[in-house]
Amino acid sequence: MPHDYHVLITSEKETDVRKLIIIGSGPAGYTAAIYAARGGLAPLVIASSVEAGGELMNTTEVENFPGFPEGIQGPELMTRMQEQAERFGAEIVYDDVVSVDFAGTSKKVVLGSGKEHESEALVYATGSAPRKLGIEGESRLSGRGVSYCATCDGFFFRERTIAVVGGGDSALEEATFLTKFASKVYLIHRRGELRGSKIMQQRALANEKIEVVWNSAVADVLGDDAVTGVVLEDTVDGSRRELALDGVFVAIGNDPRTHLVHGVLDLTPAGTVWVDGRSSRTSVPGVFAAGDVIDPTYRQAVTAAGSGTVAALDVEHYLVALDEAAETIDRVEGLPAV
Ligand code: NAP
Repeated sequence: MPHDYHVLITSEKETDVRKLIIIGSGPAGYTAAIYAARGGLAPLVIASSVEAGGELMNTTEVENFPGFPEGIQGPELMTRMQEQAERFGAEIVYDDVVSVDFAGTSKKVVLGSGKEHESEALVYATGSAPRKLGIEGESRLSGRGVSYCATCDGFFFRERTIAVVGGGDSALEEATFLTKFASKVYLIHRRGELRGSKIMQQRALANEKIEVVWNSAVADVLGDDAVTGVVLEDTVDGSRRELALDGVFVAIGNDPRTHLVHGVLDLTPAGTVWVDGRSSRTSVPGVFAAGDVIDPTYRQAVTAAGSGTVAALDVEHYLVALDEAAETIDRVEGLPAV
């Protein structure tokens, strides 16, 4: 497969120069790569060193991705997307971007390996990461009873007593899902009113395995090698008590992964990358964004994939306009001076 890129050798460093770089390898990144590769842009996908494939790598059965009536495992779905992108000429690098420079017409990224890449256009599709409570026991017992993914880890809590922290749709959905496994699910919420939708509330509250613990914040997660409970702080009177548990699922929302572009791209009040209307155009010409990093609301694999499509099409239009502008300049410069 011919690649439309070249290597620029400046003083000591080699810089790989492309038409398009895509940062991120979730459904948005890979779908953008499939479209762009089919369009002959030979994109370079920077897939991350440990999180390649994105959030779906932490999922088991995906039942709502169209085209898979029997369902498909999240990791398999992502492998298929990756293979589809490669089939059309996308190149995938398993490394992390450590810095970006979007100031010039050429978009520059530096990887953890130190390698530098440049492109005429760039798609930023870094997704979102589960929000953390930020307490000591949480990080220490992460993977030992503290989880951010009910579908990944629910299976390990058969006939156990667990808690879900949060009061939004994610927490309600996870609590309801976890009753398939656990004998008891506490839903710990910091206020006296849930944030989640009415239908999700009704479903959760009607489930006899779920008990809501109102006005309570998790002050600590207890346990040496595995979770044994939590310390709850009453958010009204400040009193503290312990609750014995085998597992804690934190479902307090997701944060878009924007750390690389703070001060570089405009963000929305919700913390997502700002894009122009329904397009993927960011505040910097030539830089496009797609997937969870621009979406505070839907955050579905299918919507992310659709968003990746929008980005690839916007990139194609941008590059055509760029080429036309360059041709016009060449023509004008070629005219005899009057
Ligand atoms: P969310 O709506 O932002 O809710 C986060 C919840 O966690 C809130 O109840 C919040 O409490 C609580 N919270 C936040 N930080 C906390 C902290 N440090 N300590 C304790 N509690 C904390 O997030 P989400 O539930 O992930 O939903 C995000 C979006 O995706 C929503 O638009 C939702 O409708 C959508 N979604 C839809 C579905 C579905 O339709 N199937 C499923 C999941 C998500 P407060 O209420 O006090 O702020």
